[in-house]
Amino acid sequence: MVTSRRSLRLPHFSDFEPGWVWLVGAGPGDPGLLTLLAHHALGEADVVVYDALVDDSILELARDGAELIYAGKRGGKPSPKQPDISQRLVSLARSGKRVLRLKGGDPLVFGRGGEEALSLVDAGIPFRIVPGITAGIGGLAYAGIPATHRDTNHTVTFITGHMAGGDMTDGIDWRSVAGFGQSVVIYMALKHLRAITGELLAGGMAASTPVAIVSRAATAHQRVLETELGAAADDAEAAAIEAPAIVAVGQVVRLRAGLDWMGAMEGRLLDSNPLGHDTERDVG
Ligand code: SAH
Repeated sequence: MVTSRRSLRLPHFSDFEPGWVWLVGAGPGDPGLLTLLAHHALGEADVVVYDALVDDSILELARDGAELIYAGKRGGKPSPKQPDISQRLVSLARSGKRVLRLKGGDPLVFGRGGEEALSLVDAGIPFRIVPGITAGIGGLAYAGIPATHRDTNHTVTFITGHMAGGDMTDGIDWRSVAGFGQSVVIYMALKHLRAITGELLAGGMAASTPVAIVSRAATAHQRVLETELGAAADDAEAAAIEAPAIVAVGQVVRLRAGLDWMGAMEGRLLDSNPLGHDTERDVG
């Protein structure tokens, strides 16, 4: 008989040294999607500086007595300025604290983690980076949508729908994105969804291109709206889809009919072949 010794098999993690900042991704929501290193850091940190996108169930894993500092938007008030957050990290580290900077998803994907890390470099503060599961991959997986699938796409483009000031992202050649004709995953898309879908349509993507909008992915409040490019903005409005939401555009969305494992757990039937042909034809 084999006896499990899993509990003894946790690796030895680096010490979280006083005066260090760990820049850590919290994943899209479900605490089960934290990395072991993120969990370790939560158990060691003196102070956790967290963003709006970090789920409360994750903060509950912080060490008893750890100070929790909120650094996101709340109640429509303007968010703290980025230089202020960076400065705060620097002064907490200089005061000898173990500082955990916890960000939703992956800290380096549309999360300004790079900017914060550069400020730490400038200030001579030692730091480490712990990647997390980004919403554009893990959040979609919780809706049964793969980032890539051999029969539908060989590329995936990650785009942010708006810039620091809230305006629609400029400098993106939406037509060439559309011209790729493959998967497009858009973060922060809700505010400018009409304009973004309009650009993709103008760029030649068919109005019938499948779209999924996954709101509050990987949390207890996850909601998925399936629609098409031509109708997405109206449908999102009518369904009052809430942020944060991740938008997937492309044929890969059709796989959800077969891969919505969460729906299957709730008893919904799955379509074994949503692409309508033999996906296994050239296993080789
Ligand atoms: N660093 C984060 C992204 C920050 S930008 C990451 O890697 O996931 C914020 C955007 O991320 C949101 O507007 C939304 O588009 C997306 N997002 C983050 N968490 C999400 C979640 N649980 N469900 C859906 N979208 C999410």
